[in-house]
Amino acid sequence: MPRRRPDDHDADDSGEYDLPDGVYHDDEPAVVPCPYCRQPLPEDAQYCSRCENYLSAEDAPPARKPVWIWVGLIVCLVLAVLMALS
Ligand SMILES: [Zn+2]
Repeated sequence: MPRRRPDDHDADDSGEYDLPDGVYHDDEPAVVPCPYCRQPLPEDAQYCSRCENYLSAEDAPPARKPVWIWVGLIVCLVLAVLMALS
């Protein structure tokens, strides 16, 4: 559910983006819905406090690799050992 701010400054549309982070016109903190569970989150949140999914790929831990990479690595190691022994 995208929450729209009141259109109270349509005279200068570009001025909205000149605000420093954390400064807003309205009283409520800016929230964005979690793309996974729709939980309202602070706009600068890096991950969801409810479902614990990271909101963007850049924020995800970089060391996390898919399982198939490790499977392939182990298979290669086993093949190398087998070839060295034979
Ligand atoms: Zn979530």
